[in-house]
Amino acid sequence: MHESVDCARCGAHFECKVGNITQCQCQAVTLTDEDRRYIRTQYETCLCAKCLLALRNERKHLPWWLQVQQAFKQFGKR
Ligand SMILES: [Zn+2]
Ligand SMILES: [Zn+2]
Repeated sequence: MHESVDCARCGAHFECKVGNITQCQCQAVTLTDEDRRYIRTQYETCLCAKCLLALRNERKHLPWWLQVQQAFKQFGKR
């Protein structure tokens, strides 16, 4: 089942199969677990491929201590 959603970051309309970024396989963007975790700390829903790529790049350029902070923030959410 395809679902039409709006990207939470840029508002672009796109098709999503699961509506969950941790399981999203509808976009041809390769993300590591760390990438997904990082994106999850900021967005609850699925994002378009463009934004997934942008956030992936953004995470790469974060200082290590900020990445640790993000990881802890996500940990506390559970
Ligand atoms: Zn977007
Ligand atoms: Zn999706």
